[in-house]
Amino acid sequence: MNFLSLIESKRDGQTFSLDQIGGFVSAYVAGKVPDYQMAAMLMAIFFRGLDVSETRALTFAMRDSGEVLKFPKDSRPLVDKHSTGGVGDKVSLPLAPLLACLGFRVPMISGRGLGITGGTLDKLESIPGFRTALSLEEIVAQVQSVGCVICSQTATMVPADKALYALRDVTGTVPSIPLITASILSKKLAESLDALVLDVKFGSAAFMQTPETARELAQAMVSLGNECGVNTRAVLTDMNTPIGSAAGNWLEVQESVACLENRGPNDLRKLVIDFAAHLLVQTKRADDLDAARISAEECHASGEPKRKWYEMLAAQGCDLDAFHRALKRDDTAPVIFEIKAERSGFVSRCNARIIGEIVRDLGGGRLRKEDVIDFSVGLDRLAKPGQQVKSGEILARVHARTNSHIEAVRGKMQSAFEIAENPPAESPLVLEVL
Ligand code: URA
Repeated sequence: MNFLSLIESKRDGQTFSLDQIGGFVSAYVAGKVPDYQMAAMLMAIFFRGLDVSETRALTFAMRDSGEVLKFPKDSRPLVDKHSTGGVGDKVSLPLAPLLACLGFRVPMISGRGLGITGGTLDKLESIPGFRTALSLEEIVAQVQSVGCVICSQTATMVPADKALYALRDVTGTVPSIPLITASILSKKLAESLDALVLDVKFGSAAFMQTPETARELAQAMVSLGNECGVNTRAVLTDMNTPIGSAAGNWLEVQESVACLENRGPNDLRKLVIDFAAHLLVQTKRADDLDAARISAEECHASGEPKRKWYEMLAAQGCDLDAFHRALKRDDTAPVIFEIKAERSGFVSRCNARIIGEIVRDLGGGRLRKEDVIDFSVGLDRLAKPGQQVKSGEILARVHARTNSHIEAVRGKMQSAFEIAENPPAESPLVLEVL
């Protein structure tokens, strides 16, 4: 294959054939295309785009670069939720056990955080003993017995995405609609799902900053997902403000447990219930969203999902005693600093991007793929838009490893919050459903 001429043809705006795409994906996975040439190809795609049939071909080529999950026949539909990534986004943690309790099978293959967005696997790895790396056989066995699993891609699942995503991350080619579509759907197609709900985020901390670009991405994924036989919906959600009141791996696990115990923040609970409700409708287990929400609420409130969560944790190696001991502490990082309001009024902004940057700078996120993260750091007790505060009241607590980490993020702390005289106009958490 003359890869150089393929790069040149995309650079010049030409369209690839199905065979050309299949050919270069398998050549790259086989190590026959060097990273510098693939980086150039990704940049050409970033600027020139891929049309619908090229995106479909890329998605299939990536899915077929490895093994797919194969489940035995079962009356329980296979479902999943996937988020395009945000700050404080711990929805998957309480959602997976809720879905299992609602009678679904949930093979949730998740990712790690990069840049300012958090990753479900990093959050779960803050749990003592929890194993995210399972074999294909273990994933299938746990889904069949427990009903849900949250784990990483195996080495043999969608290896093309693993390699391409790492390259995109260091070449500024992540926020491309066809590349994100192929990356997410190739992994979801490898789960052999019946239904998929996508949380497509827009806003300051999202890949897609505006509702318009998020809608374009959502439309691309919904139409390709459905075309591939997976009942797919997308929900556009606001990522200008972090979800819940904690950001940082362990702090988010604590908040997820609070949600499972019916104590969690309202926005987190709303998203958990909404995504479960969509999947109930998509799989025809409820006639409409209102009825589905009632079923999901009842199940959530029953305490069963919390029991299922512990069943999942135990199945994946968690040391439950150590977990319970850790849950009781709210100061796992050595230094705690309180950000205080400099004036009285209403919080008009809690900037998700800046909060994400603070978590990353504290060591809770990665600047590079190989960075080791500190699970204990982050922020909690975040004051959210609309909340009334008096001068000197706490806007957030920062959990850090050392005082010098606090000093390093001090400048960002106050700029993360804005306080106004009047309450801000309410902006909907869920903008629309596609
Ligand atoms: N999440 C993914 O899995 N892939 C992308 O390209 C972006 C977000």
